[in-house]
Amino acid sequence: MATAASVGSALDELATAAGGAAVEAGEGDAVAGVRPRYVATPGSTDEAAAVLRVAAARGLQVVVRGRGTALHWGVPPRGVDLVVGTERLDQVVEHVAGDLVCVVDAGTTIDALNAEAGRHGQQLALDQPVPGSSVAGAMATTRSGPRRLLYGTPRDLVLGITMVRPDGVVAKAGGKVVKNVAGYDIAKLLGGAYGTLGLVTRLVVRLHPLPPESRWMRSTLPLPEAASAALALTGSQLAPSAVEVRREAGADEADVLVLLEGTQRGVAARSDAAAGLLGQEAQVADVATADLARIDAEPADVVVKVAVPLTGVTAVLAAARDVEQGQQVRCRVQGSGGSGVLMAVLSGESVADVAAAVERLRAAATGGSAVVLQAPDDVRAHVDSWGPVGGLDLMRRVKDEFDPDHRFAPGRFVGGI
Ligand SMILES: Cc1cc2nc3c(=O)[nH]c(=O)nc-3n(C[C@H](O)[C@H](O)[C@H](O)COP(=O)(O)OP(=O)(O)OC[C@H]3O[C@@H](n4cnc5c(N)ncnc54)[C@H](O)[C@@H]3O)c2cc1C
Repeated sequence: MATAASVGSALDELATAAGGAAVEAGEGDAVAGVRPRYVATPGSTDEAAAVLRVAAARGLQVVVRGRGTALHWGVPPRGVDLVVGTERLDQVVEHVAGDLVCVVDAGTTIDALNAEAGRHGQQLALDQPVPGSSVAGAMATTRSGPRRLLYGTPRDLVLGITMVRPDGVVAKAGGKVVKNVAGYDIAKLLGGAYGTLGLVTRLVVRLHPLPPESRWMRSTLPLPEAASAALALTGSQLAPSAVEVRREAGADEADVLVLLEGTQRGVAARSDAAAGLLGQEAQVADVATADLARIDAEPADVVVKVAVPLTGVTAVLAAARDVEQGQQVRCRVQGSGGSGVLMAVLSGESVADVAAAVERLRAAATGGSAVVLQAPDDVRAHVDSWGPVGGLDLMRRVKDEFDPDHRFAPGRFVGGI
């Protein structure tokens, strides 16, 4: 039982380690409803290592916080004593414009990085479903938006990392070149790990040039035609930067949107060809990529990330309509028809109907997956958040290697890892 004295001394030790930046946690520091005792915000990799050494010595359960834009997403941790915030790790360390590479501290927001890169006509080509996120937060959740089709996901854009292991040891992986080192790509392993293997303090990211011209084109088509048009656009020689499908709740149609980027003349020529694939309804769409990337979900909504082979998009759109038939459920779908990664936002009064809708979407995700990212507790109690996951034994062994005491984000990951 933590006594006032031990709390005091733990907090003192954390504060000493974090250059004075450690406090008792407040309501707002809860992680998916689980309240920690302390918050420490180290300002360097050395301070982060010192903080994690204190946490290891005291057996504290730790959750890493990026900018906290979606810390409530995912399965709640079994427990958390210490939240390690990265908001003081916010420097753009080095921008090597000639190599299209940038070294950045983990807590730097994508917006701040792009403000710097933009001065040199470059960008970290990552869309933000939840605005305001940190670079490491995006990597830790491998979240992506429309332009993942051309530029890839955070895993593809991270070339190197500096991390602190749960025992406080600093480790580096990768470097400043696209294919940097022989051996296991540890940087990619931490992509999508949700902070369960350690704390990333610094990243090397790959940048892309800002396109001189970009244009969205849109068409509204019946569901099956919409999926076919998305497939045709993705398989075409148009090299689209994004192919999105969006179905509003209750609709028998969906919008298909294609993003073309490049020179003015190139975009104009490709727009005509794209219009051919989008059908008579095709027109230039006055939309912002950031708006299309954003996932608008109320706290009571259920957000399901559905990943399918490209030909599986048809079934997901049909399932979205089916779950509304005779049920108290509404299902909106948005996402990359070109990558087969879609977000379904479910809303409804009946927990049973919403839970059944999750299973219906999962059944439609043949050869893919359907993961519940956000859900109120009563729904989460009735659904399997992750669904079937292969390779769990190997993942458990990886976890045991990185975090033998299972103190990092305990229970938040697949298989209850
Ligand atoms: C469990 C979960 C799953 C998500 N899945 C998706 C998705 O599939 N698609 C999507 O568009 N958005 C997803 N999001 C939302 C996405 O994370 C946010 O859009 C945004 O990227 C979060 O950035 P942030 O800086 O606010 O991080 P936070 O919300 O603070 O943290 C997000 C996650 O990243 C981890 N993390 C943050 N910083 C570090 C670091 N320096 N080192 C190690 N781990 C770190 C946290 O522990 C947490 O698990 C998910 C969020 C969570 C929590």
